[in-house]
Amino acid sequence: MKKTTGFDRSKTRNWHPATQAVRGGTWRSEHGETSEALFLTSGYTYDSAEEVAARFAGEAQGMTYSRLQNPTVAMLEERIALMEGAEACRTQATGMAAMTTALLCQLSAGDHIVAAKAAFGSCRWLIDSLCPRFAIETTVVDGRDNDAWEKAIRPNTKVFFFETPANPTMDIVDMRFVCDLAKAHGITTVVDNAFATSALQRPMDFGADVVAYSATKLMEGQGRVLAGAVCASEQFINDVLLPFQRNTGPNLAPFNAWVVMKGLETLDLRARRQSENALAVGKFVEGRVPRILHPGLGSHPQHNLAMSQMAACGPIFSFILEGREQAMGLLNALELVDISNNIGDSRSLCCHPASTTHYGVSAEARADMGVVEGMLRINIGLEDPRDIIADLDQALTKVGL
Ligand SMILES: *Cc1c(COP(=O)(O)O)cnc(C)c1O
Repeated sequence: MKKTTGFDRSKTRNWHPATQAVRGGTWRSEHGETSEALFLTSGYTYDSAEEVAARFAGEAQGMTYSRLQNPTVAMLEERIALMEGAEACRTQATGMAAMTTALLCQLSAGDHIVAAKAAFGSCRWLIDSLCPRFAIETTVVDGRDNDAWEKAIRPNTKVFFFETPANPTMDIVDMRFVCDLAKAHGITTVVDNAFATSALQRPMDFGADVVAYSATKLMEGQGRVLAGAVCASEQFINDVLLPFQRNTGPNLAPFNAWVVMKGLETLDLRARRQSENALAVGKFVEGRVPRILHPGLGSHPQHNLAMSQMAACGPIFSFILEGREQAMGLLNALELVDISNNIGDSRSLCCHPASTTHYGVSAEARADMGVVEGMLRINIGLEDPRDIIADLDQALTKVGL
């Protein structure tokens, strides 16, 4: 395998992210294939018994088993790291495998984690249900409130964990403030960057230590496979994450890695166009609904902060109707936009978080984070925004808006 591009990091490190998305991390076999090869192999063979012993001892380079290394997976990991501006990355089977790995690899009984209360349902489950089972203390705070982060710190606080924008309330966390605060107290900041991706926002530029992804979403981009990723320093990946990942095995399959890699080639284009479309659709929806939560619109209370951290608003926003009946009525009236709880897809998709993505969160936590019965979350795709607007127009009319 020749690492014809991506290996000489002294040159390729300086490429801009859109270039990394197409070329970063590419290794080529002796065939010189243009498109990255798909290595569907669980194991490797060796020229001698001594050779395999040397590889296991770390004295010789080379792969040994696909739970530990795989060429296709390694290409994707190098590409994601280069796009993120991170020293290293490892991928997982799903976004939730990435979040679980990013947290559990570094937390032990007696440690304390502070998390933003507005979060994807399963992320809240990790905090509310999983961590306490292992005697990891937890505090949830309003992620928008800088003072709340500071007040929550205890002597045993090890990790800050948040999403920005958050799913589905679109709360924004002031990354510069919260990451600086964490650094001052020796706390590791883990940012779930699924809603923006490195194409729109790079949390490490604001001081984040670990960036974790559901790559299922905007990175993969076409709704085909599940995937996750964790980016961090080489020291964190090698000393903290890898011992956990290699022995517990949440690995991403090579085929899925290859699909995500193909998705990354168009991430920059998709993220920008979908953001443009989401802004156009958001401006239309704003005039028709009681309340909209859209980081790209001046009506979002944290619009300026959002735009100081993001290159564009991203494809997702939420809006609030009178109640569950009207929200469900709108979903049922849609003709082009699909009822679907996925996001980041090139298709426009709309869902009712209270009964889907956040169904597993307690009613109390749902109310506390602002996931109300009238809320709908929409992912704006690559369709012509005029068609998406026309569909929403007729559906809003049908429910009396
Ligand atoms: C979807 C999502 C996840 C979980 O990712 P999966 O790939 O579905 O496991 C985690 N965090 C956020 C913000 C998400 O949107």
